[in-house]
Amino acid sequence: MSSSLIRGKYIICKAINRTEVQIIEDGAIFQQDGKIVEIGKYQDIHQKYQPDLVIGSAEHVVMPGFVNSHHHVGLTPFQLGSPDYPLELWFASRLAARNVDLYLDTLYSAFEMIESGITTVQHIHGWRPGPASTWPGIAEQILKAYQDIGMRVSYCFALRDQNRLVYEADEDFVKRLPPSIAPEIAAMLKAQDVPVEDYMDFFEHLWKHWDKGEDGRTHIQLAPANLHWCSDDALMVQKEYAQKYGVGMHMHLLETAYQKEYAHRRAGTTAIRHLYDMGFLGPHLTLGHGVWLNEEDIELVAETGTMICHNASSNLRLQSGIAPLNHFALRGVRVGMGLDEAGINDDRDMLQEMRLVLKLHRVPGMDELVPTSPQVFQMATEYGAQTTGFASEIGTLEPGKAADLVVMNWRHIAYPYLDRDVSVIDALIQRSKTSGVETVMVGGEVVLKDGRFTKVDKDAIVEELAASLRIPLTLEEQRRRELSSEVFPYVKKFYDGWLDHSACSSFYCQNSRH
Ligand SMILES: [Zn+2]
Repeated sequence: MSSSLIRGKYIICKAINRTEVQIIEDGAIFQQDGKIVEIGKYQDIHQKYQPDLVIGSAEHVVMPGFVNSHHHVGLTPFQLGSPDYPLELWFASRLAARNVDLYLDTLYSAFEMIESGITTVQHIHGWRPGPASTWPGIAEQILKAYQDIGMRVSYCFALRDQNRLVYEADEDFVKRLPPSIAPEIAAMLKAQDVPVEDYMDFFEHLWKHWDKGEDGRTHIQLAPANLHWCSDDALMVQKEYAQKYGVGMHMHLLETAYQKEYAHRRAGTTAIRHLYDMGFLGPHLTLGHGVWLNEEDIELVAETGTMICHNASSNLRLQSGIAPLNHFALRGVRVGMGLDEAGINDDRDMLQEMRLVLKLHRVPGMDELVPTSPQVFQMATEYGAQTTGFASEIGTLEPGKAADLVVMNWRHIAYPYLDRDVSVIDALIQRSKTSGVETVMVGGEVVLKDGRFTKVDKDAIVEELAASLRIPLTLEEQRRRELSSEVFPYVKKFYDGWLDHSACSSFYCQNSRH
C-alpha cells in the first residue's frame, strides 16, 4: 500500500449539526495504507509528510465519499421495461424483467455511483428462486464486481417466507387466478419458497467467506425483506443472527399506504408498534423508506435508536408518498439516503438526490424546520455509513478513519462567479454535478482518476452488457413477460377497497381544498 496527500481549497470533514459543517480552508489530508493519518492546513501537512502521490490542488474541494444506503440492481427497472407503476403493481411488472449478467449489471450501476461520489453501497439482493445452494455463486458475481471496481459494499440477501406477490398467502392468491396462468404462477412462487434455515445457512456462508474480505471493503448484513414478506418467526430468527454475529439489518417498511393497511390487518396495530412489541426495533436496524409512520411510530423509532433510510426519488416514482423527514429530524432520528433502484433521472446520482431531498421537504410557511445543506450532507455521509457494516470506519474525514473521499473541481461549482457570502456546503449541495467529480478514493486507493476508472475498462464492460442483451428473448423470458401482463389485473384487483383517503391527515400541509 502507499501514501498520498489530498489537497483542497476546502476540506469538508463532516457535518457538526444541522447548520454547520467542519471545513478546513487550504487544507490537506495525509493517508497511509488506506487510513487517514492527519488532516490540517496544507502547509503543515505538506512539510511534515513525504507522500507517494499528491491529489487535488488549491482549486479543489474534498469531502467524504457518499453512501448509497439502499440499492438493488444495475440496469434500472425502467430500462428493463417496468414503468413507474404504484409499488404493488410494479412488483407484478417486474416479473417480466430479462435475465441480466449480474457481474456486468453490478458494474453498470457501480459506474454511476462512483461517478457521483458514492464510495459505499448497501446492496440489498434477493428475490431469487431457490434452491439456496445456487445463491453463493450468484452473490459472488455481485461481490466480485464491487471488488474489481474497488467499491465498498455492505451486502445483504433479502429473506422472504410468505406473501411473495401480493399481501396475502401465495396459495390464496393463486386461487384468484384463471386456470390459464394459475399453475405457472403457483410454480414460480413455489420456486421462491426456500426454508428460513436455508437463508440463515446462506448468511453464515457469506459471512464466513466474504465479511471484511481481503481488502476489508466487504461486509455482510441481514435483510428481513419487509413485514408482509416475513412471518414473525422469520423476523425473530434474523434478530437472533444479527445479535450473534454483531451485524445490522436493513428492512423495507411502510413504503406505501397499502403496507400500512396490511400491518393493521395482520397485527391490529401499526407495523412499528408491532415490531416494537416484538423487541425488534433498535440501533442495529434500518428501515428502508418509512413513508407511512404516524407520530407515535416516529416516537418509537426515536426512542429505540432505529435508523431510517430515505428513498426520496423511489417514493416519488412509485407513487408511494413523501416520508416525513422533517419530523424524523425533529425527534433526532438518524436518517440515511438511498437511491433504491434509480433516482428521478433514472440513474444513481447522489449529488442530484441530495438536491432533491433538500427541496422536497420545503413545506409552505416560514416557521417549519426544513432540511438544510449540512443536514442532507450528513444523511448522505455519516448517517448513511451508520446503516452499513462500516459504521465506525467511514462517513467522515477524521484521523483513523478510512481514506474514502471525493475530490471535486471547485471551479465547476463557483465559476464564473459565486458570491463570497454563499457557504461552501450550500454551494456544493445546490450546484455540484457528476461532471465535476474528478477523483474518487476508496481505502486510500484511487478508483476514479480524472473521471476515468482505474481498475476496470468501463467502455468495454458497458459494451459487453449491451451485447449480452442484443440476443432475442429466450422462451422462458418471453413466457414470463406474458405471465406478468396477464397477472397484472388480478394483482390490481386484489387491492380494491384497501385504502380510504377520506380521513387523510398528513404531516405536511402542501395545499388546501377550502
Ligand atoms: Zn428497496
